[in-house]
Amino acid sequence: MIKTEKILHLKSSKGRKVRVVREHYVREQVPCGNSLCQAGCHNDGKVLSSDVTHYVVPDGGVVRDFLEILEFRELQGIVFTQTANQHTRGRRHYKRLRALLKDPRHDCVLFANEFQQNCYCPRNKGESQEKWHTRCVYNAAVWYYNHLAGLRPVVMLTEDCDSISEFNAQNSGVYIISIQEYLASFCPDLRAAQELYSSIAQTLQERESEGTEKVYAEHLPAEVLEAGIKSGRYIQGILSVNKHRAQHEAFVRYQGSTNKNSELNSDVLVNGVKHRNRAVHGDMVVVELLPRNEWKGRNTALTEGQGEERTMEDTQSQPMPTGRVVGILQRNWRDYVASFPPLEEVQSQSRNSQKILLIPWDYRIPKIRISTQQAEALKDCRVIVRLDSWESTSMYPNGHCVRVLGKPGELETEIQTILLENSIHVSTFSEAQLREMPVNTEENPWQMDSSEVSSRRDLRNTHLVFSIDPKGCEDVDDTLSVRILPGGKHLELGVHIADVTHFVKEGSLTDLEAQSRATTYYLADRRYDMLPAVLSADLCSLLGGVDRYAMSVLWELDANSLDVCKVWYGRTLIRSSYQLHYELAQSLLNGEEVEVHELSQLKGSQRDQKLAELLQALETLTRIARHLRAQRDKGGALELEGVEVRAQLDEDKNIIALVPKQPLEVHETVAECMIYANHWVARKIQENFPHQALLRHHPPPKQEYFNHLIDSAKARGFSIDTRSNRALADSLERAMDPHDPLVNRLLRIMATQAMSNALYFSTGACPEEQYYHYGLALDRYTHFTSPIRRYADVVVHRLLMAAIQLEKEGSLNKALADNRELEELAQQINNKNRAAQHAQKQSTELFQCLYFRDKDPHTDERCVADAVIYAVRANGFLIFVPQYGLKGAVYLKDRDGQVVSISGDGKCEWNAGTLQRYPDKISTRTSTGTHTFYLFDHVTVRISVKPSGCHADTLCLELISSKPHRAMQPESQPAGRSRSDLVQEVVRWAEEASLQAEEKKERKSKLSKEERQFRQSKTPNLYVILQEISELALLDLSACQITNTEAQMCNTSS
Ligand SMILES: [Zn+2]
Repeated sequence: MIKTEKILHLKSSKGRKVRVVREHYVREQVPCGNSLCQAGCHNDGKVLSSDVTHYVVPDGGVVRDFLEILEFRELQGIVFTQTANQHTRGRRHYKRLRALLKDPRHDCVLFANEFQQNCYCPRNKGESQEKWHTRCVYNAAVWYYNHLAGLRPVVMLTEDCDSISEFNAQNSGVYIISIQEYLASFCPDLRAAQELYSSIAQTLQERESEGTEKVYAEHLPAEVLEAGIKSGRYIQGILSVNKHRAQHEAFVRYQGSTNKNSELNSDVLVNGVKHRNRAVHGDMVVVELLPRNEWKGRNTALTEGQGEERTMEDTQSQPMPTGRVVGILQRNWRDYVASFPPLEEVQSQSRNSQKILLIPWDYRIPKIRISTQQAEALKDCRVIVRLDSWESTSMYPNGHCVRVLGKPGELETEIQTILLENSIHVSTFSEAQLREMPVNTEENPWQMDSSEVSSRRDLRNTHLVFSIDPKGCEDVDDTLSVRILPGGKHLELGVHIADVTHFVKEGSLTDLEAQSRATTYYLADRRYDMLPAVLSADLCSLLGGVDRYAMSVLWELDANSLDVCKVWYGRTLIRSSYQLHYELAQSLLNGEEVEVHELSQLKGSQRDQKLAELLQALETLTRIARHLRAQRDKGGALELEGVEVRAQLDEDKNIIALVPKQPLEVHETVAECMIYANHWVARKIQENFPHQALLRHHPPPKQEYFNHLIDSAKARGFSIDTRSNRALADSLERAMDPHDPLVNRLLRIMATQAMSNALYFSTGACPEEQYYHYGLALDRYTHFTSPIRRYADVVVHRLLMAAIQLEKEGSLNKALADNRELEELAQQINNKNRAAQHAQKQSTELFQCLYFRDKDPHTDERCVADAVIYAVRANGFLIFVPQYGLKGAVYLKDRDGQVVSISGDGKCEWNAGTLQRYPDKISTRTSTGTHTFYLFDHVTVRISVKPSGCHADTLCLELISSKPHRAMQPESQPAGRSRSDLVQEVVRWAEEASLQAEEKKERKSKLSKEERQFRQSKTPNLYVILQEISELALLDLSACQITNTEAQMCNTSS
């Protein structure tokens, strides 16, 4: 090892220059990280593939300015040198670089060239740092080429023309070219990378010519911010912009409990963009409170369309703590979808420069200034933009265009917008990932492994196993069995789940991809699977008549009391005898004559005997499920109402009707068994790993969120007790209006709205009393039963196997993730689930708009519907349209100050007048008279679409009569209603797959091999539309928690 000195010139935070001398050791052996290595390097960890035509070595400038291009997975064999990696642009950039190097899906490695004695080169006298570094990287490239004995050429990338001409001819086998040239000659098909290149290059060029006039106050230095937060002078929190008043209102939510300013328990209002001082929605900011006389109130009126300039003095609430942003601790920028302005605007904007202001799809994000020469070509397009900087001299932030999405209004563009805006990245599964998958083809059928067969409990000949799923379901996650044990005193209930972790090894590429997706994404017209199809639809799927690996839980129950005597957990072999669907199972239970496909070949008594056997199993199962449900009811399990409606499509996939769903009791039977399995697995892993098990809890709601529910119920003479889940469940049961069943449904929706989301957590990160699942009334709960489409279940399967091993052998052969790692993973999964729900909600809204888009609201009867008032606001009310399962605002006052007046027959017109709002009613007063609207009144509305090029289209609801629409049909209450979130999941599943089955015939032939392989089909295959309103309501709430004190405000949108 040789010691040298390395001299660094650093700038201190105060701007002084400091000279630092560091001892630097170089050595002969530095791992090259290449699978072609001829020199026997100790390459542990990631190595570069040999399956490339050349290796790529970017220099510092390229890493600094063009990392985004190096992030394309299509670019392979990239060697990042230590020297080049010093050129980062701050923490976020550094983190991206690190993530890239760690990610096994990217073919790139780090080479510590500065420690390699033959690579290291000291700085020449008078040489600029930039030049020196480029020389070091070039040296490293040459070393690398020689180290691999010239087996592959090496291409160095730089944007420095002088270096290109200086080094280009020095060594054969080592080329030095610009990125542009590289992309053009090596990746001519990678259009996206080329476009991104020109966009970044343009931005870099323009950055030099910035103005100097200050538009915003400077941010305070980090030390000042830190001291101010400590002393309580400043407040730190996440900036959250009110999307309905994006220009005016933002709030800063407190972080942590170190709030010294005890009089402030609410959020801090930041009023106007000047006070927001360049902070963007989601950033971690520091605010200073303004003097009390400058405090402002929150606006509580409904706003029509977002971003409109409107001041409504009379509707402002009490003044609240108000502040201004003095510094930003952490930017939280992501990729944004934005639109080019209309052509005229482009022309006037670009007269003097190449700068264009793009309008982000998300109302909360400010306009973004980009430099482009393609403004005219892209005038009607949606693009993806990335923010680069926001100087105090610039009114708007600067960014650059990453990729073109397409034209607004086109389905693909709109869907891609939704995915991107929720940071959902789903590309097709890579070749390398698919290579990990087992093969199952006609020539080469998959077979069970003999060692697996001998190590598992074989249930194939002893247990009648069957599945109950939606019609045509391909991915059977779960199967059931039930039998009477010899002697007749005991029953045995079995839940058998797809053994995904047998096929998906921890740390494999498939595992990492599944982990980063965390869930299968369901949009209104398609889904993106978490696992490749060979697993999800084939080898993991517990199909009928084939041998499959499973993870089973078997309970021995007392035949009379149904008490649990014994529980067995473990890996099994099963062969499902029947693949039933819900309707069929229900018909069998109802005693109807139906054809069971599996028995169609059998005759006479043999058939009768089999059928009797199956029926007995179904009946026993129903009996057990009823018992389990009753037990949970005693504990206070909630029956919450969700509105489920699905779209009926014609052959061209146009929506022809929206139909409410009808759940069956058998849905609930299956759901109850799954809840039971989840609960018992939660107990098992928590007992074995008290500090590092993945559970799911549902925190009890905050009492103040129930205010709206309690007050609304009171308006109809009902009293709702929210002190416990039991009391809530009982009082909701009693709040039944005999004339209008919708009242009870709406109250249940409001109850659901008041709830928080259920969340995953690590047992070590949360005190035991908080493990409780409020909605299901269980002390411990987790997800075990759907490993094909939820990553949490995959983690839980591994924990369960570890628990079994620990009990059997007393130790583990492999360390588990510790509490911190597991909690991090839990948060990641929670975030992805939230994103999945948002995307689903937005795609539903998109399809609602598509449904109404081509209908004339004035002539088409389908645009007129009955609606119920469920909340009152200053200038209107919020309604629920049961027929379509949609919620929205109805305005009683327009922008000219006119109000709705009601004539004798209930018809509406606009006249001069006033509005008077009360807690549970609102009156309009005009020269023609007064009309009062009460909560739960039925009215008639007209539904139309309000198009928006830059943002999502929205539905517009207009009051046309104060009377119910026609003779309101009494709601038929289905026999078994959807009860828990799990039931809803099952129902949703049912709808999906039955539609999938309907479309299958025509689809099968058209589907390409890739589409079958990746299950990321572009043709609509699954159609669940209009998600449960309960889930949507929960989302509204979580998105609006800034309005802590006024949870009901959250409903202004929708
Ligand atoms: Zn080597």
